Amino acid sequence: MMSEAGPSADLELRFLPGIGPLRAAALAACGLHTVWDLLHWPPQYCGEAPDEISAGPLPRGRPVQVRAQVLRLVNPQRGWRGRTSFEVHLRRADGSPLRARFFNAGYLRDRLCPGESYLFEGRTDPRLAGVLNHPRFSHLVQGLADARPGRQGGEVRYRLPPGIGEQTLRQAVGLALERHLVAVADPAGLLAADQYQAQLRAIHRPADQAAYEAARQVLAERELLALAWLLQRRRARITGRVGRSWRWDEQIHARALARLPFSLTPGQVAAGAEIRADMQAASPMYRLLQGDVGSGKTALALLACLAVIADRAQAMILAPTAVLAQQHHDFCCRCLAGSRVRVGLLTGGTPARERSALLAALASGELHLLIGTHALLEDRVVVADLGLAVIDEQHKFGVAQRARLVAKAQVDAGRPQVDLLILTATPIPRTLALTLFGDLAVSRIADKPPGRAPVRTEVRRLRPDDLIAAITSALAAGGRAYVVTPLKDESENLAAADAMSVAGALVEHFGPDTVGLVHGSLREEDKIAALRAFRDGHTRILVATTVIEVGVDVPEANLMAVLDAERFGLAQLHQLRGRIGRGPLPGLCQLYHRKPQGADRLQVLAGSDDGLDIAQADLDERGPGEFLGTRQHGLPVLTLADLNRDARILEQAHNRVRQALAAGHDMPPDLARFLPDDHRAELLSGG
Ligand code: ADP
Ligand code: MG
Repeated sequence: MMSEAGPSADLELRFLPGIGPLRAAALAACGLHTVWDLLHWPPQYCGEAPDEISAGPLPRGRPVQVRAQVLRLVNPQRGWRGRTSFEVHLRRADGSPLRARFFNAGYLRDRLCPGESYLFEGRTDPRLAGVLNHPRFSHLVQGLADARPGRQGGEVRYRLPPGIGEQTLRQAVGLALERHLVAVADPAGLLAADQYQAQLRAIHRPADQAAYEAARQVLAERELLALAWLLQRRRARITGRVGRSWRWDEQIHARALARLPFSLTPGQVAAGAEIRADMQAASPMYRLLQGDVGSGKTALALLACLAVIADRAQAMILAPTAVLAQQHHDFCCRCLAGSRVRVGLLTGGTPARERSALLAALASGELHLLIGTHALLEDRVVVADLGLAVIDEQHKFGVAQRARLVAKAQVDAGRPQVDLLILTATPIPRTLALTLFGDLAVSRIADKPPGRAPVRTEVRRLRPDDLIAAITSALAAGGRAYVVTPLKDESENLAAADAMSVAGALVEHFGPDTVGLVHGSLREEDKIAALRAFRDGHTRILVATTVIEVGVDVPEANLMAVLDAERFGLAQLHQLRGRIGRGPLPGLCQLYHRKPQGADRLQVLAGSDDGLDIAQADLDERGPGEFLGTRQHGLPVLTLADLNRDARILEQAHNRVRQALAAGHDMPPDLARFLPDDHRAELLSGG
C-alpha cells in the first residue's frame, strides 16, 4: 500500500508516525481508517484559552495557564472510591508554591521530571488556594524563561477511541494537518480545495468559537448531504419502481366508508384523500401518516386495505405488539362483519394449526387481509399478491425489521412494488422524519373524532391518599383508571414506583376483582387477557408499565395516573395521556412526581395538548436517540451535525439532493466517506 511518501488523504493511519498496528486497529474500530477519516473526526469546542498568570495569587475555581518548575512528585495515594491520585509540588517564577493534583493518571508521572519547567493549563481548585486540578502541561525547553507563548485561541477536545490517548490523537491530527491536509478536496465539490482545507484546519485549530462553529457547519452540511443522498436513493429505489394504480373509484370508496361505524372527521377526509391519490397513481406509495393519539389512523388504514382488496389483491397490517394486532383485528372484524372479506390474525402466540391454515390461505390468495406482529416477517409467510403493507407505530420497529418488511414487499423483482403506508402516533418532528426516512411523503390527521370529552392534566407531588381519592372518584363517575409505573417490580437501586407493589396496595384498598395488572414480562396472551378484562369492565383499575403506551383503546377510561412521571419522556407521557378522553367521560391525567425539580418540565404537558409541540419539546430536551427511545431505532450516526441545531442545513441538503437527482446528477462519490461502512456500501452499489 501507500507509504509515507507524498501527501495523501487516503494514507492508512498505520503509516502515520506514532500510530502502530495496535493503535491503527483501535482507530479502525471507530471507523477511522485513513488520514481523511482522522481529519474528519470532529473535536468538541471547549472554550477560549485562559489567561496566563505570570505572578501573584491565582484565582480559585478558574481556568488558568501558569508556568512552574517541578520540585518533587508525591507518591500515589489510594483515595476516594479506589481512585489513585498523585501530587506534584511546583514553584512559579515569582517563587510562590503551587501544587498540581492528578487523578487516576499514574502514566503521567513519568512525563513530569523534577527540575524541569512546564506550562500548566487547568482549573484551580475552588476551595484550596494554590492547587491545580488535573492540569494539562507542556514542557518548556528553556525553563521558566522560555519565551514560547502560552496557548492562544480556542481549545478543542477530542472524543477518544478506546485505547487511544489524548496525546496520541492530538499528535496524529497534527501530523495529518501538517503533511496531508493539502491532499484533501471538498467531498461535496462545492468549495475550492484550499477553502475546504481552511475549514478543516479551523475545526481542529480554531481561532475562536465563531471560527469553530463556522467550520463545524461546513462539515455538518456535507455529512447531512451524504445522509440525504442515502435516504433519497432509498426512497427512489421504492418510488422509482413501477407500482400499481388501484381503481379505488367512487363506488368502492362509498362501499368501504359504509363499513365504518362512524363518519370520518375532516382531518381524516383530507389525509385519506392524499393516500387515495397516491394509490391511484402508478408510482408506488411511500407515505407516513401522522396523527395524534386517538385521531383515528386505523380507519384510514382499513380503507386503503379495502381499496386493494376490491382490486383482488391482498393487504397486511404490521403492529408492534400482539395487543395492538389483536385490537386492529377486532376493529376490522367488527367493520367487516357480514362481508366477503376474509381477515386473519397472526402473532407469535397463534397455535400451529391455525397458523398453517392462515399461511395456506394467504399463499393461495383466499385470505385478503392479514394483521399481525413480527410473525408476519418470517420467511414462511408468503403472500399470493400483496398490494399494500401498513406498518403501525413504525418507530417501535428496529431497522432490521423495517428492512425485512420492505424486502417482503418487493420479493419478486418482476412484480410491481407494493404500496407502503406507515402510521405513527408519536409525531416525529420534521428534522427527525427527514433523518429517519428522508423525503417520504407525510399526511397528518389534524383533528380528533367528535364527542371526546376534554382531558385535564395535573402535575402533583406523589401522595398515596391523593391517588386513592382520584381513583375513587373516577370509578364513581362510571369510568376506569390506569395507573402507570416506571418499574415492573421493586428495585434496590431505584426509588420509583413499581407495578407489582402498587397493584398490591390497590388490591388491599379496592379488592382483588377490581384491579388488573399488565407489564412487559407477561406472556402475550396474558397481556391480552388483562387488557380485555379491563376493556370489558371486569377489572376497573389497570396497573401497568408502559406496555400500554401505544394504541390501547378503552373509551370508558377517564383517569390516567402516572407515578414518578419525571422518569418518562414528554412524548411518552403524551402518549399515555392519549389513553383517556376517548369517550364521553371527561378525563383526568395526573402526573405524580417525587422530586419537586422534576415538576417543571411536566408543566409542558399541563400547558399543551398538541402532540407535535410536545414532541419538539421532548426532542430538544433529550436529543434524537433518547427521543425515539430505543437503540434499534435506525437513526444514522451523525458525528458532525446536530439535529437540533442544524435543522435548516438538513432541509437545504435534502433540497440540494432532490434537485441533483431531478437533473440526473450522481452523488459526488467522496460524500460516501461520511457514512458508516455498511451504508457506504449501500450507496456505492447504486440503485
Ligand atoms: P390512533 O390514530 O391513535 O391509532 P385509532 O385508530 O385507534 O386511533 O382510533 C381511536 C378511536 O377512535 C377508535 O375507537 C376508533 O374507532 C375511533 N374513531 C376513529 N375515527 C373516528 C371517527 N371519525 N369518529 C368517531 N370515532 C372514531
Ligand atoms: Mg393506532
